[in-house]
Amino acid sequence: MRQFSFFSDPHIPADTRRAVNAAAARGRLPQSVMLTGGAKALREACAKELCLAVLCAEATPEDPLPCGVCHCCRKVLAGAHPDVTVVSPTGSRKTVGKADVEQQVLEPLYKSPTEADNKVYIFPDADTLSPVVQNSLLKTLEEPPEDVMFLFLCEKRESLLITVISRLTEYPLGSAPSAAGQEDDAAVTAVARGLAEALAKDNEFGLMMQTAPMAKNRAMMAKTAARLTEIVRDALVSGSGAARLSGCDREAALLAMNYGAPSLLRIKEAMDRIIADAAANANENLLLTRFSSSLAVILKERR
Ligand SMILES: [Zn+2]
Repeated sequence: MRQFSFFSDPHIPADTRRAVNAAAARGRLPQSVMLTGGAKALREACAKELCLAVLCAEATPEDPLPCGVCHCCRKVLAGAHPDVTVVSPTGSRKTVGKADVEQQVLEPLYKSPTEADNKVYIFPDADTLSPVVQNSLLKTLEEPPEDVMFLFLCEKRESLLITVISRLTEYPLGSAPSAAGQEDDAAVTAVARGLAEALAKDNEFGLMMQTAPMAKNRAMMAKTAARLTEIVRDALVSGSGAARLSGCDREAALLAMNYGAPSLLRIKEAMDRIIADAAANANENLLLTRFSSSLAVILKERR
């Protein structure tokens, strides 16, 4: 039984979560990856999860997702796996220089891994790599050894040379969140959770109450509709073993218990319409009414 769900942090954009999970589930993660945007802590957490995926001792071709608990996974999570190299500046340098890349990456590149079957080289602040340093990696990125993965973590993709970017697979982690942005995100999730719960518990009044925080806020209506769609999507695949995306497992399970697939799909369609109407600048009062009434219709039909 897997102890943790791979690449499922709700702050990761859904497209990225999907792409990484699909590639990892086929055992085909790209060898050279850039993680761009998002908060620094999120980039680092995502890099660790990618390390787990290529180093886990329990992963097999039939079940390639990492277990999160074997000795390899534990060492990765503790930042102490000998086959993970975090490329860092040495001496008095503040940023990684050409000599650092030569010593830490290029010289040991063809040596066998110490414990696992693969090795990972991480550039935690790829934004700060000079063009000279980036150029010194071009050949290697073109044809990396089969057992090596490169991870470039950067706030802005523009910090890297086009020639480097073209050799990397980019996984965007969203825009860097401001403190206000994180509060917004938490508010959106709270409303989406409340709506899912009201639907599951046949609480029509609750449904109406939950939409109140979105009054006069078209952007929040669209974001909440998108988040509720993720919860519905998780409810649709519950029990199939597919990766969950919303981070709202409890609400997804409640929905799955109370609604069949046709009703869940109708919720998704209703939310798709809200997102489209919000993008088309629909009147905010009408949009809010439609938000709750379209869900109330689906709730009543279940009775
Ligand atoms: Zn493991």
